[in-house]
Amino acid sequence: MSKTIYLSPSNHGKNQNKCLRAGCYEDKHTRPIAEVCAEYLRKSGFKVLVGKESQNMAARCKEADNNNVDLYIPVHTNASSSPSARYIMFMCYNTGEVYRKIFDAIAPYMQAIYPGNVKAQLVKRTDLYEINAPRAKTIYCELGFHTNQQDCDNFIHNPEAVGKALAQGICQYFGVAFGGGGESPSLPNYGKGQKITLSGCPLYGTSATDKIATHVTGTYYLWDGKLLRGRYRITNLPSRVGVAGQVTGWINKSDI
Ligand SMILES: [Zn+2]
Ligand SMILES: [Zn+2]
Repeated sequence: MSKTIYLSPSNHGKNQNKCLRAGCYEDKHTRPIAEVCAEYLRKSGFKVLVGKESQNMAARCKEADNNNVDLYIPVHTNASSSPSARYIMFMCYNTGEVYRKIFDAIAPYMQAIYPGNVKAQLVKRTDLYEINAPRAKTIYCELGFHTNQQDCDNFIHNPEAVGKALAQGICQYFGVAFGGGGESPSLPNYGKGQKITLSGCPLYGTSATDKIATHVTGTYYLWDGKLLRGRYRITNLPSRVGVAGQVTGWINKSDI
């Protein structure tokens, strides 16, 4: 059965949360992102609802519940008093396995098109209405900063790329083939023996310890490609992949 997605573009009001582009404000650039995403999801077989400007958060959450949606996605851009602040952030009710799975599916597609190789963040927020109210799980997107020049010039006003990446991530999460055509951005492969380049990467002695043993730089290989507690074993030569006793240590997936 096809899944139903609820997209809730920001609804702060006309001329609220002005961005750096003349005459633009948050709602003006988040709605096109949601609309593009919705189109790609529909082409991929999803049923999609997009919150209307006339609907407040309560009305949107109620509509989502009435339609038994499978995932609820507010679409926003962030603001900071520091003009240099820029990153992508996803907020969820918690950062446990269930929500991390959604993040792990969506974040790589977004990171792949976000300028500057900046890692996306998963943040726990329990106080937001659209995280609390819907029966469905919520992943609340802050897609860059409308207070940052680079994000305004090269990201948030490109609804085609951003909406498509969001749709690709949602497809990935539900295990649905992306139906939008075209090339997907190349994503990191985390298979056994995958060659990785590390730079000052924290290395751990086990999958569980918080203690950093050392930092490693250079070319390494995933020892078995099996993720444990968010970490992979690495080794330093292709010939040592999968060989007992030849594990250099553990690194966080998020540091690759
Ligand atoms: Zn704008
Ligand atoms: Zn917002």
